[in-house]
Amino acid sequence: MAPLAIGIDVGGTQIRAALVAADGAVLDRLAVPTPATEGAAFVVARIAEAARSVAGDAPVIGIGLSAPGPLDAERGIALATPTIAGFVDFPLAAEVRAATGLPVALENDGIAAAIGEWRFGAGRGLANLVYVTVSTGIGGGVVVDDHVLRGRKGMAGHIGHMTVMRGGELCACGHHGCFEAHASGTAFLARARRLAAGRAGSALHAPGPALSGAAVFAAAAAGDALAEELVAEEAEMLGLGFASLLHLYSPDVLVMGGGMSAQFAALGPRIEAAVRRIAMPPFRDVPILPAALGDNSGLAGAGALAFERFGPGAG
Ligand SMILES: [Zn+2]
Repeated sequence: MAPLAIGIDVGGTQIRAALVAADGAVLDRLAVPTPATEGAAFVVARIAEAARSVAGDAPVIGIGLSAPGPLDAERGIALATPTIAGFVDFPLAAEVRAATGLPVALENDGIAAAIGEWRFGAGRGLANLVYVTVSTGIGGGVVVDDHVLRGRKGMAGHIGHMTVMRGGELCACGHHGCFEAHASGTAFLARARRLAAGRAGSALHAPGPALSGAAVFAAAAAGDALAEELVAEEAEMLGLGFASLLHLYSPDVLVMGGGMSAQFAALGPRIEAAVRRIAMPPFRDVPILPAALGDNSGLAGAGALAFERFGPGAG
């Protein structure tokens, strides 16, 4: 049997694990809740359990571990993850290695997903790609000239914390005006709830605080004026950030993943229109595509990373 890798994506709410083949195929996967408030040792134990469970008796070369930043990918250390208690200067890769007996390569979750889409998804075969995940937050990863951009400590590509506005909305990082604070799914929903509360005529007024993002998109499709405004505003904010990314990295393609990409049919054309307007003319023909691997981008990318570091051809 050909060797396989374990890809693991540690998030603030879920730990997802998968058995990944060398061609990026996700063979078997599971998700368990993250014991995010119980401390790092509990999280490591849960990761090890999940790894053992997906591996079964398969021949496994190692673990690619994707986790939220900021983290020092080179040294395998979680530096200051706000969503998981105890992930402060925590030697995550070494602890998971000790708990599983397998070699572990740690990567920022945005970069891992970028690798997945670059190797096996919407950016396959291209030399230059920017991947942006738009979800509760915004993250990403960049491939330039066939190289993954990692930067000092492997921290490059924290796209969500580009400042897009002076004195803007408060971000989870503590700063105001970050791209994430204005264009993430969380920001979209906060804006929707705030405006819906004052708009009695809108279909969005009735659900009150229970209003969901999906409901806003459904109402926009049905012609509700406020919902249409909100979707247009979201696309405009994303277009603003994406245009900056085109200017910075000149990718062959910009790939959008994360929970918000489920609404790409509505958002995509509007984002493209915004980018065509904002970007300098030579940048306007860059395709903006939804992630091809859906929520498997990060797992496939983490698996690819394990093959690169620990696979048969690895130095
Ligand atoms: Zn921020």
